Amino acid sequence: MSDRELIFQLRNELRKHNHNYYVLDTPTISDFEFDIKLKKLQVLESQYPELSDPNSPTMRVGGAVTKNFQTVFHAQRMYSLDNSYSKSDLLDWESRIKRAVDGPVSYTCELKYDGASISITYKNGCLFRALTRGDGNKGDDVTANVKTIKSLPLVLQGDFPESFEIRGEIILPFKGFKAMNKQRISQGEEPFKNPRNTASGSLKLQDSSEVARRPLECLLYSIEGENTGIKYQYENLEKARMWGFKVPEEAQCVDSIEAVLKFIEYWDKARCDLPYEIDGIVVKVNDLQQQVELGYTAKAPRWAMAYKFKAEQVSTKLNYISYQVGRTGAITPVANLEAVELAGTVVKRASLHNADQILKLDVRVGDAVFVEKGGEIIPKIIGVDLSKRNLGASKTKYISECPDCKTPLIRKDGEAQHYCPNTIGCPPQIIGRIQHYISRKALDIEGLGGETVAMLVAAGLIKDAADLYTLQIKDLLPLERMAQKSAENLIKGVQSSKQIPFERVLFGLGIRYVGETVAKILAKHYKTVHALSEASVEDLEAVDEIGIKIAKSVYAFFRNDASIRLLSRLYSYGLQLSLSEEVLANQTTLLTGHRIVVSGVFEQVSRNELKRLIEANGGKVVSSISSKTSYLIAGSNVGPSKRQKAENLGITILTEQAFLDKI
Ligand code: AMP
Ligand code: ZN
Repeated sequence: MSDRELIFQLRNELRKHNHNYYVLDTPTISDFEFDIKLKKLQVLESQYPELSDPNSPTMRVGGAVTKNFQTVFHAQRMYSLDNSYSKSDLLDWESRIKRAVDGPVSYTCELKYDGASISITYKNGCLFRALTRGDGNKGDDVTANVKTIKSLPLVLQGDFPESFEIRGEIILPFKGFKAMNKQRISQGEEPFKNPRNTASGSLKLQDSSEVARRPLECLLYSIEGENTGIKYQYENLEKARMWGFKVPEEAQCVDSIEAVLKFIEYWDKARCDLPYEIDGIVVKVNDLQQQVELGYTAKAPRWAMAYKFKAEQVSTKLNYISYQVGRTGAITPVANLEAVELAGTVVKRASLHNADQILKLDVRVGDAVFVEKGGEIIPKIIGVDLSKRNLGASKTKYISECPDCKTPLIRKDGEAQHYCPNTIGCPPQIIGRIQHYISRKALDIEGLGGETVAMLVAAGLIKDAADLYTLQIKDLLPLERMAQKSAENLIKGVQSSKQIPFERVLFGLGIRYVGETVAKILAKHYKTVHALSEASVEDLEAVDEIGIKIAKSVYAFFRNDASIRLLSRLYSYGLQLSLSEEVLANQTTLLTGHRIVVSGVFEQVSRNELKRLIEANGGKVVSSISSKTSYLIAGSNVGPSKRQKAENLGITILTEQAFLDKI
């Protein structure tokens, strides 16, 4: 086969695998094999630039940077939907329809996905352009970003019209949203508030490779265009599915409004089991001819109606506003509420996010406020019941000084959050940093917990992580609830942390944006803290997976006097600030690209040692089995469901010995 043919064949194969994996959820090859094919294609494409294709599967990783999003007119306007909130609203709608069209009416009931609307044009089976809804008449061209969404086909299969537009919603499933937030928090960044805003925010990011890293999905619900030959809305969905789009299977075609009501009733409850947020149901007249007869109002089609679920909402009293200081100095205002039950849990606090939010809501102490639990994990305040406001209630004045150290707060341009700039002297920041340093994924100091850290700081015994190593039993004994035994354990735990490997110490330093994974990458690349501290921003950025934000942050950290002092003290106490000789000697790339699950009890090496070995050989340890897993290393007592799942997916199961032999 010629290289040219090989390029085309690889593209086709990879497309099929993408579809199997992201749309049908039934992969037929391992991730590892997929990656090998993709790499092969990348190499070939770089050799034959004349055969490049903007819709090649290699384009999924993004790379294009959009400085200004072009505004483009929609070929057909993107309307809004009329909303209904009750059964009688829907019955009224049905009678309006019955008066306007002849013959029986059937309805397609669909889920109303809560994300960002998108309209995508395909020409000759290739993704041509993606536009946001904008004002309905014109939207922003976000093609480069949308192309990175793996469940959206770049090239269609089957019998598609030459040119058409397809509309849908870009969403972020809960699981991916949570994973993103976990990572952000561990890097000292503000978590995202809810999946919907994150999805729509992602579409407007300038760097498409950042979008590629976000686990967005695109769910489609309608095809627009002449000469599609389609007669029914339900057929729209089926056709789109056949051409390779992700169209959720929950939609149903029914013959009566009673059946519509049943569908709504069912999903009002079942929606909590869906992997993504929906905010209602959309009911559409199924027959497209009848749709034409019904037409549009100024704002919305007459042939469709959204039924909105009620977000659970309660009213309660705002007792006071407190302000939390995070380890990076970021201030978060918190509403402290009269306890109230909401969606099955008792709520006492709600986030107020930042000063702008307080201003916007004009919320005042003593107010009756409405609290809602939507896609967010923390409930939020959505409004104030002004009819209940006390005449004397005074406008909330945002704090101008740190609630702890009284330093005047600062607010950087373009940031919503206020910060306490007193990094070195502000107690909650000091405590937060040391708590991070001792946390499980960092130095994991046994015998020392977060509350004890706070106590030690308050007692003036420690001011930074290095001070931990100077603690003596006699310092600890006067503290409350600190007996001889616990003091000994604490000192012992602190001493043994000197064995913790470099990458975890690096993570423990709490450098902004340096989470667990980034710390590993940096440790592996630079091998010593000295080499890392001398790296320029350009050097850092050249490291695989390190972006400009991280590079700048790392660079700044090593140019800060306090960090240098901390590091030289940690060094003098014997902390691991470089990869050990042994690690260096044993590093291989044997397992590069492999994702490995470890389960059960092991005899020759500990679980942690096993994980270390996997990583030292270039592999990645993951916690749960999926089609992407390369191996399950099973000790005795391996979880039966894990084993079963691995067997079902055809994943190789290795014994401890087999694994050790392998490496
Ligand atoms: P609204 O923003 O409340 O006017 O609702 C209209 C929006 O709902 C549309 O712009 C779509 O993006 C979104 N939507 C979500 N799911 C569907 C669906 N199944 N059918 C039509 N629109 C939907
Ligand atoms: Zn402060």
